[in-house]
Amino acid sequence: MDKSKEVFYKICFDSLMEGICIANHEGRIVMNNSAVEELFGYEKGELIGKKITSLIPEGQRKIHLEYFQNFIKHPRVYKKGKGREFLGLHKNGEILDLEIGLNYFTHEGKFFAKALISEISLRKRKELWIKQKNKNLELEVEEQESQLISLVSELELSNRKLKEEIKERAFAEQRTKLALEKEKELNLMQTKFVSLASHEFKTPLSGILTSASLIQKYNEVQSNPRVAKHTNTIKSLVGQLNNVLDDFLFLENLERKGYPMNISRFKIREVINSLVKDAGAILKEGQRIEISSYESNTELQHDRIIVDIIIRNVLYNAIKYSGKNSVVGIKIHSGKNMNIVIKDDGIGIPNEAKEHIFDRFYRAKNALPIQGTGIGLNIVKRHLQKINGSIHVESEETKGTEVTISLPLTFQD
Ligand code: ADP
Repeated sequence: MDKSKEVFYKICFDSLMEGICIANHEGRIVMNNSAVEELFGYEKGELIGKKITSLIPEGQRKIHLEYFQNFIKHPRVYKKGKGREFLGLHKNGEILDLEIGLNYFTHEGKFFAKALISEISLRKRKELWIKQKNKNLELEVEEQESQLISLVSELELSNRKLKEEIKERAFAEQRTKLALEKEKELNLMQTKFVSLASHEFKTPLSGILTSASLIQKYNEVQSNPRVAKHTNTIKSLVGQLNNVLDDFLFLENLERKGYPMNISRFKIREVINSLVKDAGAILKEGQRIEISSYESNTELQHDRIIVDIIIRNVLYNAIKYSGKNSVVGIKIHSGKNMNIVIKDDGIGIPNEAKEHIFDRFYRAKNALPIQGTGIGLNIVKRHLQKINGSIHVESEETKGTEVTISLPLTFQD
């Protein structure tokens, strides 16, 4: 071969990007291109004569040798590609990831092995990175999947609970409905019974009253003070009983027929004056009513009887539930509404009773020794509802009670 051709081949050989390494049957390097030297960190020509095992890391050399010997015995072509990867040893001790293709040829009767080598560290790292990334992704997906599963089962559970709750509520509603209907029925029966009984009481009571009046009349001649005293007591007690019965009958009427409103204009002063006058009959010894901040000219447009019943019940309670020599205060002030505040320093309302005092027939424990029916405040509340008024009670047991009645100045249906 002429010199220029040899130079040409040499340049081709050296300029290959892949490393080419040719070893003889002893495994010694007889030829290599620059790519191999660059790859393994050797100087030009430094590798010639070295055992190829010197390019293999210590731990792998034995296997490699066996492999090479086997290759000499049964030579064949191994193309570069997947699976033909091995580790190389850089001159500076660094481990290299390599890929190899093997081939052989004979020259002048001698066997030569030819290896095509390229570095795959970068590819390897990328593969590893992708693998890791995939693994992480898989883990993430798995985790999200398990979170999703637990979320779904949680949802299913709460759904089931919700369904049960709805069922229970429906049951409870049904039960309450039934109980309410029963209570209504009972209430009606109670009112009917009370009204019937009241009617029955009314006739003998009016007989007793007539008889007492007659005794009083006959006694005018003899003028026995004891007889006079007792007939008076009979008359006043019958009067009390009559009031109670009137309350009962009024309630029954209210429930059955409703109440026909009769609206008129009147001054609050007129109502209060007449109430205070009537109250004189039930005041105890030394007990008095004191009116402060009396806005006497303020006018109301309402059903006068209803306003009278409301204030009368509250005022009479204040008198009834406070003692001798006490003062019952009435304060009246108006703005958008008319406020009537009635204050006493009597027995007060126990805390546990406060929420019940507007219930029909309810009486607090401390009120039981005092005559009453538990109807008055119930009637008050019903009337107030009808005329858009309100009532507020502040009370402390043994200290006293302050009731504020608030009425709109004009009745509006
Ligand atoms: P009663 O006929 O018993 O007075 P009410 O309906 O008027 O019926 O009042 C209900 C209950 O509220 C009374 O039994 C009493 O326990 C309590 N109460 C109402 N007003 C007063 C008050 N001024 N002081 C103390 N307790 C009161």
